[in-house]
Amino acid sequence: MQLDKPRPVGERPLRMVERPDPVPGPGELLLRVSACAVCRTDLQLCEGDLPARGLPVIPGHQIVGRVEALGEGATGWQVGDRAGVAWLGGTDGTCTHCAAGRENLCDQARFTGWDHDGGYATHAVVRAGFALPLPPGFADLDAAPLLCGGVIGYRSLRVSGIAPGGRLGLYGFGASATLAIQVARHWGCRVFVCTRSTAEQERARALGAEWTGGYGDRPPVALDAAVTFAPSGDVVVAALRALDRGGTVAINAIHLDRVPELAYADLWWERSLRSVANFTRQDAREFVDLAARIAIRPEYEVHALQDANVALERLARGQVRGAAVLRCD
Ligand SMILES: [Zn+2]
Ligand SMILES: [Zn+2]
Repeated sequence: MQLDKPRPVGERPLRMVERPDPVPGPGELLLRVSACAVCRTDLQLCEGDLPARGLPVIPGHQIVGRVEALGEGATGWQVGDRAGVAWLGGTDGTCTHCAAGRENLCDQARFTGWDHDGGYATHAVVRAGFALPLPPGFADLDAAPLLCGGVIGYRSLRVSGIAPGGRLGLYGFGASATLAIQVARHWGCRVFVCTRSTAEQERARALGAEWTGGYGDRPPVALDAAVTFAPSGDVVVAALRALDRGGTVAINAIHLDRVPELAYADLWWERSLRSVANFTRQDAREFVDLAARIAIRPEYEVHALQDANVALERLARGQVRGAAVLRCD
């Protein structure tokens, strides 16, 4: 399903095209894709809110597939192995960020389904070193929705500095937060969830939230850390005000509408505001292994590959419960 030119999702920006199977280059794998989950970033790309890096492009960066062929010099994989592919599709491995173990900040990073073709397809070519081994125990469809929101939610928890047993706020409760709360509960954290939607508040309590409220409501205890998922600066400020001294707000959003003016008193006492950008392969491996061990199961609906426009439109309208996953085989 190819994007030729971004346009509103109601005009069906993706088009089914038949192409020859791609050939893996040096160090690359050819995957037969079985499932690819749909991310809000895909929607932003298709509608032009995220400028395309090159057109045409095939979106999709939560891919589960099996190795069908190896390019020259590709190691660590055999034909038939199951692999996951996420947003981070490649780095230079040599810049100061990569050298410091923060490849998520690499200046030369390349992203799946943006810099090169992604997983809204029957086949995808990926760099062997950036394919992720998936532990058994997940069905392909179960694994796909973990590979973006799940991994980034996990990194956000790490960036927030939340310790086991700590008091954690989650602001917004979409697909990423529903996975993050399962990790936080596994760590024994007390979780407080703020979201506008009463259905999401209900879901949060079912997943172990101790308290739920709206964005304007203050949790009953001061928080050690908070993660904001809503692309709203006002929500970030609300989270900051709910922090205890020394607490951190991790902002899990590529775009924020704005950063409103704040009173310095809200930041004083060594409170921190941090953005969360992408993730490292280490984050992805840790999260996927943890998700397998504690049986994190995302909620999702399934669409056929050729119905990718429908899945995007449902996502745009807020009709998707949990995640949407394309079945590509
Ligand atoms: Zn994504
Ligand atoms: Zn780098």
